[in-house]
Amino acid sequence: MENRVYNFSAGPAAIPHEVLQQARDELMNWQDVGASVMEVSHRGKEFLAVAHDAEKDLRDLLKIPSNYKVLFLQGGARGQFAAVPLNLKGDKKSADYVNSGHWAQSAIKEAQRYMDVNIAADGKSNGFSAMPSQDQWRLSKDAAYLHYTPNETIGGLEFSFIPDSGDVPLVADMSSNILSGPVDVSKFGLIYAGAQKNIGPAGLTVVIVRDDLLDHGSLMCPAVLDYKLQAGNESMYNTPPTFAWYLAGLVFKWLKKQGGLEAINEINGRKASKLYGQIDGSGFYQNPVDAQWRSRMNIPFTLIKPELDEKFLAESELEGFRYLKGHKAVGGMRASIYNAVPEQHVDALIDFMKEFERRYG
Ligand code: PMP
Repeated sequence: MENRVYNFSAGPAAIPHEVLQQARDELMNWQDVGASVMEVSHRGKEFLAVAHDAEKDLRDLLKIPSNYKVLFLQGGARGQFAAVPLNLKGDKKSADYVNSGHWAQSAIKEAQRYMDVNIAADGKSNGFSAMPSQDQWRLSKDAAYLHYTPNETIGGLEFSFIPDSGDVPLVADMSSNILSGPVDVSKFGLIYAGAQKNIGPAGLTVVIVRDDLLDHGSLMCPAVLDYKLQAGNESMYNTPPTFAWYLAGLVFKWLKKQGGLEAINEINGRKASKLYGQIDGSGFYQNPVDAQWRSRMNIPFTLIKPELDEKFLAESELEGFRYLKGHKAVGGMRASIYNAVPEQHVDALIDFMKEFERRYG
């Protein structure tokens, strides 16, 4: 199929095949305007319809309540690491953060530029193979918010529950697991996600924020990151990333066609349990995360004989498997199996793993 590889990239990551085909077909003459979607004003009626549809489809998929704004911004998830404290600090001195690994730590470091951070729970002492249970978390009553990272893209650790933050707004960096299954948005004050995994191309950041949190911004907040300002301008205070927004809209329609988040949730569960099954059942591969904390999106694994890692990567590449090299912070391999990675690609990887074990095990 058009020389496409088995793409296990952690991000930017695979985009559904049908979406790419549609984008290709529409590229030169989009909606009969005689230009591509990239070449027209974000304020023209054609693009405004795209923006509106994308928001509506995302609201439908996630069942976003009407008292939440949806923003389509730039700056990536790291931009949000700063935007969150700058917008939500209000008159509070500190915020609570859960340290679940690499990305949580990056969020903490950025927040510390703007306010005191209380580490409410920390998985560092056990190498982020699990997190302390919620009854051991040290939450502060007067925190501006509680921030956590539902899915650690590098460590491969995912929360299977939504933490209870009481009256304190709960903030989630859902960059690598948004839209992987249904989620009760009403439990959150704010959700943000860089688009380049389950939403679309890099360059777009989605923010879902409860209305009452729009009034806590600091004067220091850059205008482009100011939720209230962006909400008041339909995310068009500055020029939005129009192509990424358009493509995200196509991905949302694709997701609806798959049967929505319940259906994709089932497929994701199947894909992940097959791959973990292969890793655990082999005695040749291993994954460092405790079973109940394992990510369904990012599955790191190593070989019991680490000297074979390079051979695994080289031989898998020859068979068309790409971007399986683990993040440099952890080494080994990592298979990212976001929504757009077909189940057959996971099956093909498992077959390759079996064959590799047969030859070298
Ligand atoms: N948070 C998580 C969970 C991520 O996976 C990433 C990117 N891999 C980031 C934040 C940083 O995203 P960005 O590069 O869009 O700033």
